[in-house]
Amino acid sequence: PDPSDNIQNTPKLLKDHLEATGGKIVTRFPPEPNGYLHIGHAKAMHLDFGYAKKNGGKCYLRFDDTNPEKENQEYIDSIIDSVKWLGHEPCEITYSSQYFDQLYDLAIELIKRGFAYVCHQTGPEMSEGREKMTDSPYRNRSVEENLSLFDDMRKGKFEEGKAVLRMKGDMKHPNPCMRDLVAYRIKYHHHPVSGDKWCIYPSYDYTHCLVDSIENITHSLCTLEFEIRRLSYNWLVDVLGLYRPVVWEYARLNLTHTVLSKRKIITLVQKGFVKGWDDPRLSTLNAFRRKGYTPEAINSLCETIGVTRTNNTTIPYELLELCCRQDLDGKATRAMVVLDPIKVVITNYPQDQTEQITVPNIPANPALGTHQVDLSRELYIERTDFRMVDSKDYFGLAPNKEILLKYAYNIKCNEVITDDKGNVTELRVTYDKDNSNKKVKTIHWVSSVAGQKPTAVEVRLYDHLFKDSEIGDDWLEHINPDSLKVIENAVADKTVANSKEYDRFQFERTGYFCVDKDSTSDKLVFNRTVSLKENKDK
Ligand code: ATP
Ligand code: MG
Ligand code: MG
Repeated sequence: PDPSDNIQNTPKLLKDHLEATGGKIVTRFPPEPNGYLHIGHAKAMHLDFGYAKKNGGKCYLRFDDTNPEKENQEYIDSIIDSVKWLGHEPCEITYSSQYFDQLYDLAIELIKRGFAYVCHQTGPEMSEGREKMTDSPYRNRSVEENLSLFDDMRKGKFEEGKAVLRMKGDMKHPNPCMRDLVAYRIKYHHHPVSGDKWCIYPSYDYTHCLVDSIENITHSLCTLEFEIRRLSYNWLVDVLGLYRPVVWEYARLNLTHTVLSKRKIITLVQKGFVKGWDDPRLSTLNAFRRKGYTPEAINSLCETIGVTRTNNTTIPYELLELCCRQDLDGKATRAMVVLDPIKVVITNYPQDQTEQITVPNIPANPALGTHQVDLSRELYIERTDFRMVDSKDYFGLAPNKEILLKYAYNIKCNEVITDDKGNVTELRVTYDKDNSNKKVKTIHWVSSVAGQKPTAVEVRLYDHLFKDSEIGDDWLEHINPDSLKVIENAVADKTVANSKEYDRFQFERTGYFCVDKDSTSDKLVFNRTVSLKENKDK
């Protein structure tokens, strides 16, 4: 299904509208500024902005800001930032709150048309009435009385919770969303945009459809949980005689091993399970960005999964990682970094010599050039690339075995130095300048200018924040206690020197990494974006 299907059986009003706007498609992405955007919102944006763009139309970024107690400027700023980061270009940034005057006038009109009343039932009383399909005792007030009480609400004559304006639908309607939903409630709360002008705020159900209509949205795309509200959406614009947009629903994005709900993400941040909104273990867009994901990788996931109306599909996290690798493969400069170093001394290499070894930036794309790394008598290899006892399937170094230092020379291990406890502290090797033995395995390594130590860097390895792929209501029980492993003294070749936040590398044989904001002039910090292969040392 495609939203354009709807154009065929379009209500007349939409046709009129399309004629008026020159046939332009107008959509909106309507986040509530009550948290940071997550990867689920990337799917919403892909559809909202993508559908408009594909059809030569336009898309608003609209802040659905009707709950001032949960919303703030920090969230607004971060959302604008994330939308831009993903490459979307809103035709305009709007706020539901900028229409508060118009919405208020429409509420008066609604009362005058006999479709709204002021109600003093408590929340539980209203729910009970809805459940039992019984009318509120305040339902049949006169228009004059309702107008005057609504005015009292606006003037602050009631305490919070003592009065609401309700839409007069049908308390016997099979769809509970038709049973007199709340249009306005009292909140003595400062609003991030409208300040202290109002003490009554319109509800989502009242606001969303009316602002869609005011902004001439042609296609109002939303997630399936709103399907049940479509009837009340249409009802309200119809009883006010306004232009009615086409509403079209699609399935929410769910990802394995993670939670996609602002409420749950807030809990993770506030209870200290993670270190802030951009902690790379979260599923916020800021977190993915900090971890080293590209906008292209995230948009490519959205493109791959497409639009479906099938609910409860959970996309495997591995698919997102695959999209990421595919994108980074051609973008991330190769570097060599040793996470758990063992010192290696090339005994037949001259003491004070340093040579430059040429390394391709991106091996598959020679046009992207090369860079150089230092090689001298002392270097470091991974502890896992050495074993005392060799075996056929082992690719690393062992006593008397020869291997290739990637891009450089073959070395052969002649001597193993250990401490009193038997831990290997140093390997003594000799190198073969001609690499005569071609049939050797290759390992990465890090050296530096003769007599100097290579640069130490911090490397952060992330695993899933939730151990299990599907997470139920007891989601906090599924938290993985080992989701972050910090390696403080990895060593890096000079390729990474002077890199800055978000710079991306492929550390040979280890994974894709990016520079973290915690880096200082003394020490670079890297986040592992994704390993090179699925399930490799997650
Ligand atoms: P949350 O439960 O995370 O707060 P929400 O739906 O309340 O989500 P909004 O900020 O109101 O979040 O959402 C803005 C838009 O993004 C809405 O159209 C919403 O339907 C859509 N959206 C939110 N979460 C997802 C998701 N997981 N997949 C696809 N679209 C989503
Ligand atoms: Mg919402
Ligand atoms: Mg929400």
